[in-house]
Formats: sequence, structure tokens, C-alpha cells
Amino acid sequence: MGLLNGKTALITGGSRGIGEAIVRKFAAEGANVAFTYISSADRSNALIEDLKDTGVTLKAYQSDASSYEQSEELVKQVLEDFGQVDVLINNAGITRDTLMLRMSEEQWDAVLKTNLKSVFNLTKHILRPMMRNRKGSIINMSSVVGVFGNAGQANYAASKAGIFGFTKSIAKEVGSRNIRCNAIAPGFIETDMTKELDEKTKEAFLAGIPMKRLGQGEEVANTCVFLASDHSSYISGQTLSVCGALNC
Ligand code: NAP
Repeated sequence: MGLLNGKTALITGGSRGIGEAIVRKFAAEGANVAFTYISSADRSNALIEDLKDTGVTLKAYQSDASSYEQSEELVKQVLEDFGQVDVLINNAGITRDTLMLRMSEEQWDAVLKTNLKSVFNLTKHILRPMMRNRKGSIINMSSVVGVFGNAGQANYAASKAGIFGFTKSIAKEVGSRNIRCNAIAPGFIETDMTKELDEKTKEAFLAGIPMKRLGQGEEVANTCVFLASDHSSYISGQTLSVCGALNC
């Protein structure tokens, strides 16, 4: 018996990295999973093929989380395909790192749209169906960078800090409807996103991690399982850091 048996989850950015680890873990725990990607169609199909023996229903959707219209269409389609959504994980995110003096308006807008507006887009469209269901768990992927900031990531830090205020507000708005909303703040997790960081930044991060290693997507996914499951039934409006005690 999995911890998520009978639940359906919608996960943005499930084709790679942390999102892929969440898809794998949720399927292993018995959840039906709808996940999105923006360009990794082949990878998404391979992931579904790889998980076909889990016995759960899995479906990938090409959908840009930064688009209000595409998010509305996605939620409609997922509800048609799966009947309900019990868990929403706003995981999709990008970086466009550079120092503020060099940061273009495009770099600012792209990161804010993909990382923060996407959280509004998906939450906005899932909330009414969750209210009708009288239950739901929304999990927003933030970052420790949203708490402490990071030189060269003003756009990213702002987008991730915005998620904290959003998460607490939603928790207060819909708590009475049995809908919970929490954030996760990963530290430095080994994925394609962190491969892009230069060596100097990586070394600085590693030096500051008391556990002296990078985190794995699976360790963030396990936290998502907890926040999606009934084991966290009285936890809402909170942030769980998954960071090996980095900057704590
Ligand atoms: P990643 O390996 O770069 O994967 C990003 C995922 O998001 C991919 O599945 C990508 O789809 C999808 N995506 C990107 N833009 C999208 C859009 N507009 N609409 C829908 N999907 C989109 O990133 P990651 O490291 O796993 O990060 C996942 C989340 O964790 C992000 O929110 C990130 O900010 C956060 N985080 C990561 C770390 C870390 O150390 N890695 C630390 C703290 C927080 P395609 O495959 O189609 O491109």
C-alpha cells in the first residue's frame, strides 16, 4: 500500500531533474500522475514507458506553465483525463543568471514568468476543482536562494521569495476548505539546472553545506510525498528546506 494510493497529482516540469524524481516517487507510492514539459517530449515518453509496470496512470502534457491560457487548458484536459486532481506541484522553473548591471529586461521577465507567474496560473485554475473536492495539497518549489539571496540571481531569488508570500496567503485563503499549501526550499540539488552554474559558484555552495554533499532529486521528491500525503494533514503555510543545513 503506497502513501499516495488513490490520489492524482499534477506536476509541472516533470520531464527532468527534480520533477522527474517526483514523478518516479509518486508513481512508486501509488499516485496517478499528470506531468508537464515544455520541450522534452521524447524524454517524457521514455519516462512513462519506464514506469509502465507501476500500474498507475501516467500522462505527459506539453504545456507552458508561464502561460495563463495554456495552464487553463491543461487543467481542463487533466480533469477530463483523470477526473480529479488531489495534489498540485508547481515545480517548473528556469534560471537566467547574471549580475544586475548586465541583466536584461528579458532575463528578468522570463524568470519571473516561468517561476512565479506559473504558480499563480496553475493554482488559479486548480483551486475551484479542489474546493469542489473538499481537499487538496498544493506544493510550490521555491529555493533557499529565495530566503538568502545570491549574487547573480536577483531575478531567480525574487521569483522564489515571491513564492513564500503566495504560499502563506493561499494557505490562509483556503484552509477552511481543507486545502493545504506549502513550499519546499531545496538547496543545491544535482540536476541540469545546477550543471549550468560556474565552478566558483558550485565550490562556494559546497563549502557552505554542513552535510558536505549536494542533494539528490529523490530527496526533494520524498519531501513532496510527505506534503502530498495524509501524514502532513495539519501542515499548511509552511516551508520545508531540503538543503543539508545550508545557510540554516
Ligand atoms: P531542470 O533540471 O532544469 O528541469 C526543469 C523542468 O522544468 C524541466 O522538466 C522543464 O521541461 C520544465 N520547464 C521549464 N520551463 C517550463 C515551462 N515554462 N513550462 C513547463 N515546464 C517547464 O530544473 P530542476 O533543477 O529540476 O529544478 C526544478 C525546480 O526546483 C525549479 O523550480 C527550480 O527553481 C527548483 N530548485 C532547483 C534547485 C537545484 O539545485 N536544482 C534548487 C532549488 C530549487 P523541459 O524538459 O521540457 O525543458
